[in-house]
Amino acid sequence: SSEPVRVMVTGAAGQIGYALVPMIARGILLGADQPVILHMLDIEPAAEALNGVRMELVDSAFPLLKGVVATTNVEEACKGVQVAIMVGGFPRKEGMERKDVMTKNVSIYKAQASALEKFADKDCKVVVVANPANTNALILKEFAPKFPAKNITCLTRLDHNRALGQIAERTGAAVSDVKNAIIWGNHSSSQYPDVNHAVVNVDGKEVPVRELVKDDAWLDGEFVKTVQQRGAAIIKARKFSSALSAASSVCDHVRNWVKGTPEGTWVSMGVLSDGSYGAPKDVIYSFPVTCKSGEWTIVQGLKIDDASQKLLDITGQELVDEKKLAYECLKE
Ligand code: NDP
Repeated sequence: SSEPVRVMVTGAAGQIGYALVPMIARGILLGADQPVILHMLDIEPAAEALNGVRMELVDSAFPLLKGVVATTNVEEACKGVQVAIMVGGFPRKEGMERKDVMTKNVSIYKAQASALEKFADKDCKVVVVANPANTNALILKEFAPKFPAKNITCLTRLDHNRALGQIAERTGAAVSDVKNAIIWGNHSSSQYPDVNHAVVNVDGKEVPVRELVKDDAWLDGEFVKTVQQRGAAIIKARKFSSALSAASSVCDHVRNWVKGTPEGTWVSMGVLSDGSYGAPKDVIYSFPVTCKSGEWTIVQGLKIDDASQKLLDITGQELVDEKKLAYECLKE
């Protein structure tokens, strides 16, 4: 059997962490035949809760789980990890300005960048979940210059999956028959969930979503809004933010990255922009990507209509503004 892969989860005692670690230990992240060693990091005030999670992992007797490191020491947590899932961060509390959250989180990501660069495996794959996810990922990249930039990504797969889910509900199709939605840009309310290239498999034939739904007003209006505001709707219903769907989409993101996307299918990932589709360069922007042999590639050549291009530009500009704000926060 293969060597265990070391997987780090930061903020592991939090809500998403609690939903995510059993998925990893069950083989949902890397496959049912891939043993893992979990590295769980959290901050000192959460140390006892973290130990509780560790105890539950022991009690679950997961066959694939070959070891658990539970620590509040960043360097110890990063040691030798091949996958790093960055969930830890200050949640946005009521009354907090965007800039307050930004200041707290970008400084965390600046500090963790150095630890990752020094102690993680040289080819470690990183996915940032904590908000502002794109900008935190960018800060990680900027302060870990020796780290391969292509290995630093942020999560927009939950938004992508939400789009597939809405189309499935609307058309009555199984969600597994819906594919190739796109989340463009920032993981924020400026993101653009685009179904112009999405298709549904109907009796073995790929039918464009627009043809099947026959309601452009819904697709351009309510659908987009529902996807953008789904997080808030879940908080309202559950009184807690989405955790199981966030955790599940982290597994999808990493599994597709490592093991590849199926032929003819793309997924959405926040990756370092090369300027494709007029996106600003040098920000972490969500694009449609295909993955093969552990590498992502931005899907090229999709036709973007004028209305969509405007939305791509707006969310891109927000990322440029966030980047600027992040650097101001780091100076203070
Ligand atoms: P969650 O596990 O619910 O969320 C963690 C992060 O993920 C937040 O930044 C949150 O942003 C983001 N997030 C939440 N839902 C989604 C979603 N659906 N899609 C994408 N991103 C999402 O928060 P908890 O407070 O339960 O846990 C956070 C953990 O981090 C705690 O264990 C805490 O101790 C730890 N922590 C670590 C720090 C550090 O490493 N220095 C600092 C502070 C906390 P949002 O708030 O916008 O929802």
